[in-house]
Amino acid sequence: MLDINKIRADFPILSQKVNGKPLVYFDNGATSQKPQVVIDAISKYYQEINANIHRGVHTLSQLATDAYESSRGKIQQHINAEFAHEVLFTSGTTFGINLVANGFASILKPGDEVLVSAMEHHSNIVPWQMLCEKTGATLKVIPMNDNGELIMAEYDKLLSDKTKVVTVNHISNALGTVNPIKYMIDKAHEFGAAVLIDGAQAVPHLIPDVQALDCDFYVFSGHKICGPTGVGILYGKEAWLNKLPPYQGGGEMIKDVTFEKTTYAELPHKFEAGTPNIAGGIVLGTAVDYMNSVGFENIQEQELELLEYGTKRLLEIEGLKIYGTAATKTSVISFNIEGIHPYDIGTIIDKLGIAVRTGHHCAQPIMNYFKIPGTIRASFSFYNTKEEIDVMVEAIKRAKTMLS
Ligand SMILES: *Cc1c(COP(=O)(O)O)cnc(C)c1O
Repeated sequence: MLDINKIRADFPILSQKVNGKPLVYFDNGATSQKPQVVIDAISKYYQEINANIHRGVHTLSQLATDAYESSRGKIQQHINAEFAHEVLFTSGTTFGINLVANGFASILKPGDEVLVSAMEHHSNIVPWQMLCEKTGATLKVIPMNDNGELIMAEYDKLLSDKTKVVTVNHISNALGTVNPIKYMIDKAHEFGAAVLIDGAQAVPHLIPDVQALDCDFYVFSGHKICGPTGVGILYGKEAWLNKLPPYQGGGEMIKDVTFEKTTYAELPHKFEAGTPNIAGGIVLGTAVDYMNSVGFENIQEQELELLEYGTKRLLEIEGLKIYGTAATKTSVISFNIEGIHPYDIGTIIDKLGIAVRTGHHCAQPIMNYFKIPGTIRASFSFYNTKEEIDVMVEAIKRAKTMLS
């Protein structure tokens, strides 16, 4: 079991007051808070080894390069990628998906199909729509049911030799559903389709094993796993990364440049044009180390307890409905109270120090499915407590009285 007080002491922001009340931070689905080791690592980088990487022969440049590459190796190990050069640093999930979708522009033809799920974040919908517009390929949607689960029988029917890409999130940010991605990947591969997994909501809760999953691409953001903003990872199988064209041209991604012709650098540099977020890349390794020191078994145990307790307590509130009741769920509870706009609840409980997300959570198709404008989303992290859930439930009851 976690020593929750010790864990909470690692996060300076958690002992803050907001609007005069102790902060209750339940917006972990949007971004996680940062432990002191991560905050310190950022300033240590700038204080001690700041230099540009992969360029200089001087000592600082080499120290910075070593730290950056060692972080890549750490992440390779963490997700069990076969090669370090299959692990690309990006600015985040959104960038990673755009990079891959853009790469497929040179591969797809009219008549080809891209399958996306009904429960994707906008950043895993729009880049594929843009790709389809560009190439004449068709976007098809894998439907879901009222529990917020993808319907595998429908998925099986959608797959065909026309399917070139399947893209799905590992865990839904709006509903908390854990999707059966291993099944989906294996099925897609029977038809030769490439599979991209949006792991943005999964990596805070579990360790993806990209080789066991056999996914072709796996993307996530650093800021949702206790790391800094502006850095993320795109894992891609070597064969695919060699096949896709570079996304951006510039320094660092070339082998030779003349005005007649440029040849591209080897992986991973082919996809890492320009000076990257060096501090971010290094400190993402620190964040992964921190998460592993807490331990993912402990994280899961704590979060499952919070999910069960939070679900039970929230359902005590009359007129409250939870969206996303899948059999396998992570610690996200999306809900509404009959007759009250989610935004009004969010605004009142913010005055009481409680941070939740209200709105469509960048997943408007899900809201359309349920015919609602949005939800209130409480997303719990391992550093949250049952006492905080009690505070939220009392605050919601108060807000409900005020609003009805
Ligand atoms: C947060 C999130 C994204 C977008 O991540 P960025 O860090 O904003 O690029 C994409 N997909 C899911 C499921 C997310 O939760």
